[in-house]
Amino acid sequence: MENVTDIMVSGAGLAGLSAALALAQTGRNVTLAGLLDTRPGTRTVALLDGSMRFYEALDLRAAIEAQGAPLRVMRIVDDTGSLFRGSPCEFEAGEIGFDAFGWNIENGLLLDILAKAARADSRIEIRDSLTRSYEFGAECVTAALSDGSRISSRLLVACDGVRSLARETAGIKGQSWSYPQTALTAIMAHGLSHRDVSTEFHTREGPCTFVPLPRAPDGSFRSSLVWVMHPREARRRSALEAQALVEDMARASHHILGKLTLERGPAFVPMEGLQVRAFSAQRLALAGDAAHAFPPIGAQGLNLGLRDVAHLRDCVSEGHGGDPGSPDVLNAYARRRQGDVASRTFGVDLMNRSLLTHILPVDLARGLGLQALRSIGPLRRLAMREGIMPARNAPSMMRQHPASQFIER
Ligand SMILES: Cc1cc2nc3c(=O)[nH]c(=O)nc-3n(C[C@H](O)[C@H](O)[C@H](O)COP(=O)(O)OP(=O)(O)OC[C@H]3O[C@@H](n4cnc5c(N)ncnc54)[C@H](O)[C@@H]3O)c2cc1C
Repeated sequence: MENVTDIMVSGAGLAGLSAALALAQTGRNVTLAGLLDTRPGTRTVALLDGSMRFYEALDLRAAIEAQGAPLRVMRIVDDTGSLFRGSPCEFEAGEIGFDAFGWNIENGLLLDILAKAARADSRIEIRDSLTRSYEFGAECVTAALSDGSRISSRLLVACDGVRSLARETAGIKGQSWSYPQTALTAIMAHGLSHRDVSTEFHTREGPCTFVPLPRAPDGSFRSSLVWVMHPREARRRSALEAQALVEDMARASHHILGKLTLERGPAFVPMEGLQVRAFSAQRLALAGDAAHAFPPIGAQGLNLGLRDVAHLRDCVSEGHGGDPGSPDVLNAYARRRQGDVASRTFGVDLMNRSLLTHILPVDLARGLGLQALRSIGPLRRLAMREGIMPARNAPSMMRQHPASQFIER
């Protein structure tokens, strides 16, 4: 028999689970289809303040803080060897009135927290199955699942990742590209405290970032590593013995964390970009990496994906119980996502490409930009606030409490 639901979310990754939970808050029935994978891995996600507010609205903030580590300082070190490199640039959350920019948590732990919350929500039905195909109609969209069942819904939210089947079936065109880069990811233990500082070394091959994690049960300090490098170097390092790899990592860290030990990993992820022509189509909304992708610089990817979800939730709520997949809802959603997604994709791409180029004027511009951020307070504070979230048009789940709003002096 065919199942009918208000909203179907395809993809049980971080965006999909978050979408199911947020959209269920509108009082709709939500079916989430996808394969849950909460195994411990090497990837972590830095959830910036807007995303922490999002999870606070879902009553999950305490669970995330209990298993994550606060990011109180973000440090950028120009390690390109450029003629114009300056001293490190530090951004302190306290300077814009925040206790922390956000929290870094292992993807597996966050997925587990979200999956438990979704299982406990009676408005969410979880189907442990992939979607094989979609038929889009004027009144509903019907998905055929790999378990042989079919689900019809008035709104399909595609959170099925960068190679989204839903996006492709709906005929939404996009531009995708690859970078001459691969990210090595690992969980590291280390001898010295990270002091809640995330350090991003900008090298000629890409950023190499150590992001704080909570201490291990034996008391050792821990960080996650995202080291973006040329694919040739990634291949070479994937063949190294653990000891030789750790020595390479220690050199890349400039020994700021003391003696390093590999706790988990390495794993390797090729770097790619995606820009779509539309965020919605008939009965379809794209969210998360199905709607945009770029390299991990400045912890933007999932934070942007959660803003997709929070805006979609607002658009559905504003429909006051009407059709959640109506053209009005979907057009409003597409309008709200354009500027934010385009500016983040452009900004991250520009910063990434400026590292890869060896052109002197580009090095000069990057050096001057960092120098300006170091020395001009209002500019630095503006960059910090914009880095966390765009100042205008925040979705309701992410709005700042008036009492905690920072006033520029
Ligand atoms: C090394 C690295 C570090 C990063 N660090 C950060 C960070 O610190 N902060 C940040 O904000 N972002 C970060 N990101 C980006 C972030 O990880 C991604 O934006 C985020 O994980 C995307 O989540 P998603 O659910 O949209 O996509 P995915 O994680 O790709 O999930 C898609 C899901 O859809 C499922 N799926 C696919 N096809 C189907 C189908 N046909 N039917 C059903 N299910 C399907 C897949 O199995 C998967 O579960 C990082 C990315 C990388 C690579």
